[in-house]
Amino acid sequence: MSLKVLFWAKPEQWPLYEPALREEFNRRGIPVDLVNETDDPASIEYIIYAPTGDNDDLSPFINVRLIQSLWAGPDKLIANPTLTQPLARMVDRGLREGMVDYVVGNVLRHHLNTDKFAQAKPGEWLQQNVPPLARNRVVGMLGLGELGMACARAVYRHGFKVMGWSRSPKADADILCFDGAAGLNTVLRSSDILVLLTPHTAETENLINAETLAVMRKGTSIINPGRGALIDDTALLDALNSGHISQATLDVFRTEPLPADHPYWAHPNVLVTPHIASETRVDSAVEIAVENIRRAENDETPRFLVNRSRSY
Ligand code: NDP
Repeated sequence: MSLKVLFWAKPEQWPLYEPALREEFNRRGIPVDLVNETDDPASIEYIIYAPTGDNDDLSPFINVRLIQSLWAGPDKLIANPTLTQPLARMVDRGLREGMVDYVVGNVLRHHLNTDKFAQAKPGEWLQQNVPPLARNRVVGMLGLGELGMACARAVYRHGFKVMGWSRSPKADADILCFDGAAGLNTVLRSSDILVLLTPHTAETENLINAETLAVMRKGTSIINPGRGALIDDTALLDALNSGHISQATLDVFRTEPLPADHPYWAHPNVLVTPHIASETRVDSAVEIAVENIRRAENDETPRFLVNRSRSY
């Protein structure tokens, strides 16, 4: 019997994923009936999914054993009230490698103060701005999960001191790990460059606000590839305008695309990137998706299941 698998994502994804998924199912010896639309939702056993809008109705898929998301962040998916099926988020090496590149690249950009030289007027010879060495800078990593820990290690390998913060306690030979409210303050107080890589949950909403910004040292910079709602935008703009926060590189926003009249666009100390920090890559994602379907089919626990009670 073939497994009935629905691929549900934006139409342009189907030609990219279909051949790769068929090849991977074939390679694993799993017979599959793979479709990208259905008029018989009750026949579908697995969904490989990336939301196509705000109104995707998952309720007719009453026999689905697993929804395998193509996205790393589960926030938008679990906000869908029609989702009742088990949900696995995407953790693949493509996403991880992309995020490491984004974080290391922008940490170095902040560290070297590259934007100051890029903005210099002709003849402005800013020789007094020699940056300190990486080993004299502290990078704070809020979120030590699949992406945050990989980024923390990469930044550490580059020579920075790295302090990380997570919900549950962690231990690592190289990264100084903290958790809880007191731990957060320690990381905020100590960081020169702060990277946000927690998911968006009720607990992390507005994690960066007037109060937490005030804990940070003058001149701290912020990189946010996590989620827009982690930041109280008004508080960050106030802190940027006063010079308390030196610069921000922001990839994610409460409204995406970021509206053209949003003050972040025009701010001289803000770099807006259009949610490109990292993306699921077809070749590595199909391996995860097919392996998770194989696990579910064999009564093994799929990997990276979203814990609905903690929202990530
Ligand atoms: P994980 O679930 O693997 O890791 C999340 C980390 O955040 C964990 O360390 C977790 O702690 C920590 N965390 C969660 N809630 C809290 C809290 N209340 N207090 C302290 N720490 C908390 O997620 P990933 O690393 O895979 O991804 C992180 C986020 O990155 C995604 O949710 C998504 O929003 C974003 N992302 C952005 C992309 C982009 O292109 N901009 C691409 C991909 C992802 P603990 O370890 O204790 O569980």
